[in-house]
Amino acid sequence: MSRTVVRISIILLVIVSLPLGFYLTRELSTLDENEAMVERVFDAQLGSILLSLNQYSENLVSRWVQSLDQPIAVDGELMEVLARNQMDNNPSIEAIRFMGLDWDGAVTTYSENETVALIFETPPTETVEKLKEFLAANYQKVETLISGDKTQLYFLLKNNEKQMLCQLLIDPISYIEQNLGSRIQEVAQDIFYLEITDTLSNSIVYSTEVIQEHEREETKLQKAHLWYLPHYEAGIRLKAKTVKELATERSQQSSYILWGMALVVLFGLGFVIWSIRREMKLAELKSEFVSNVSHEIRTPLALISMYAETLMLKRVKTEEKQADYLKTIHHESNRLADIVNRILNFSRIEKNKRKYEFRLHDLNKLVPKIIDSCKKHFEVNDVKCTFLPSDDEVFVMLDKEAFSDMIMNLIDNSIKYGKEKEKRMEVRILKKKKYIWLEVEDDGIGISAKNQKYIFDQFYRVTEGDLAQKAKGSGLGLNMVKKMMSAHGGLIAVRSKLGEGSTFILKFPDKKENHA
Ligand code: ADP
Repeated sequence: MSRTVVRISIILLVIVSLPLGFYLTRELSTLDENEAMVERVFDAQLGSILLSLNQYSENLVSRWVQSLDQPIAVDGELMEVLARNQMDNNPSIEAIRFMGLDWDGAVTTYSENETVALIFETPPTETVEKLKEFLAANYQKVETLISGDKTQLYFLLKNNEKQMLCQLLIDPISYIEQNLGSRIQEVAQDIFYLEITDTLSNSIVYSTEVIQEHEREETKLQKAHLWYLPHYEAGIRLKAKTVKELATERSQQSSYILWGMALVVLFGLGFVIWSIRREMKLAELKSEFVSNVSHEIRTPLALISMYAETLMLKRVKTEEKQADYLKTIHHESNRLADIVNRILNFSRIEKNKRKYEFRLHDLNKLVPKIIDSCKKHFEVNDVKCTFLPSDDEVFVMLDKEAFSDMIMNLIDNSIKYGKEKEKRMEVRILKKKKYIWLEVEDDGIGISAKNQKYIFDQFYRVTEGDLAQKAKGSGLGLNMVKKMMSAHGGLIAVRSKLGEGSTFILKFPDKKENHA
């Protein structure tokens, strides 16, 4: 990598990665805080759901209180109807007892079941005194008392002319099922799992979903005591996942997105650096190309100028020498024209301006003609070239001039990068499945596997090895062949081993494919 590329890469890395790193660490560190906050908010929500359940229960009990707290005799017929009505409508109330708090302490009990009525206990005097104080302050408080597996709710009547205590004997399980059940289902909807447990026996007495004991994850529940059933507890959690799991999942997703974004930015950065590097390399190759071409042009120009001057000054004595000089001038100007044509051709191909005239040609006939035209070239360069036609029909749609340019290019390279003496070259035509192959094989210096990847790139020249360095060239030939092949719907490939030789393969689509 050149120093400029390194410098640009470092600057880009600093510009992009510093703010990105800062942003990422900040976002990732606040993710945990966000998660904790979401958890706190959600816990508070679950708590308020449980609170609403207790409030519902309180409303229910205060309705019972209101209907029983009447200015009528507690042992009268009217109260009996009222009490029995209350028990019929709310089967969880198993018995109702009124007790006078004055000196005679008369007791009236209403119940379907005499034995149940015996469970009633008299509440502690201090609590009753407290209730009196509350009532004086106009607050009719309801207290609870546990009697075996039943619960008593008791309160003072405020509308009766006598000071009276009213006690309700409640069966907790039926209270939960009949009075709280529908409310529990309503608040739970499909989102929450809600259960009521007996804290004394630690058993579930009601739940929105049947859960196996071993699957029960008590730790995930948010809990609250039921106000009127002191040893019962309500527990709630999200149905599918806990809040913590949800929050963790969300923060995990966010961190994936953040890492993904960082990756995209880094990938983009890598791409920018790669493009800059490529452009710089191309600029370098272009300037090398200009100096190579100038060098290539300079030699024939110098020769032409020198021989022309000698002839102009009539310094040549013999006619033979004169003819020799003129031949050199002719040869060198042809070379010059060749170089210029190559560059012009290249720029035409480059701008997609080269016009092709595709016609069907028999390669078995066309290729030997082109090879024949190189006879002189082979003689001068000590090349033995053999041609192996195909036994099959090998018709290809091609532009004759471009095709000849391509083969000449490959032949020229085989000579340029060939042995000094007794070069051998073989041109073969092979029929493959969908393609017709034209192979040009030489026994020259070969190309290393590493360089084979680049030789078809614009301006690329192998710089390792004496010959590769000495041979004149522009790094355009194979790139031009590649572009012309693609205009023919074909491909170019190479098989080569360093020090042993190379085979260049032009793969043309079979004519049938071409017409399709
Ligand atoms: P150049 O003008 O340099 O010949 P090309 O595009 O024709 O440009 O070839 C690119 C490079 O591929 C050459 O510089 C040479 O190193 C290598 N090359 C091409 N043909 C052969 C060959 N037949 N044998 C060995 N090396 C070759």
